[in-house]
Amino acid sequence: MAVSLHPSIDNGVRKGSGTFAGGTLVCKCKDRPVKVGIKGDVAHNHACGCTKCWKPEGATFSVVAVVPSSSVTVLENGDKLKVVDASATIQRHACTVCGTHMYGRIENKNHPFYGLDFIHPELFEEQGSAAPGFAAFVSSVIESGVDPGEMDGIRARLKEIGLEPYDCLSPALMDAIAAHTAKARMAA
Ligand SMILES: [Zn+2]
Ligand SMILES: [Zn+2]
Repeated sequence: MAVSLHPSIDNGVRKGSGTFAGGTLVCKCKDRPVKVGIKGDVAHNHACGCTKCWKPEGATFSVVAVVPSSSVTVLENGDKLKVVDASATIQRHACTVCGTHMYGRIENKNHPFYGLDFIHPELFEEQGSAAPGFAAFVSSVIESGVDPGEMDGIRARLKEIGLEPYDCLSPALMDAIAAHTAKARMAA
């Protein structure tokens, strides 16, 4: 049996439609689910092995993407949302009943990713949002209890489904962070 990574990619990565116009993220509650509207498609979708991103029950990785904060609107039952850890860089707004993270916002204006919200595309009611393109913080799954001996199999499986495994973010995102840092330093 293949290594299980996350239900939305375990049978292979489904391509995005390329014309996804946005949709509605819905939490796991049967009663009064939280609904969050997203305008437009997601960017930088990826599997993430860090210990902070929300994952569905039993998953080794989360699947997480970014959208502009201005495209995110709480539509229904926002009274159930609460920030998981107010001291974290990403303020993850989660449903207090089912625990699903609906959006993570960066409030620090100096952060390289300020203006972007982190969301989990699997929560879309609609199909067709941009597919994950890489895997980030892969080694960190060990911190969540994965046996280090399983890492070769996990990295091989990620490559097999086309998600290059990185132990930080992808080169494009690491470059974006470094460029932001360099610019900030020059301005200082
Ligand atoms: Zn919920
Ligand atoms: Zn993460």
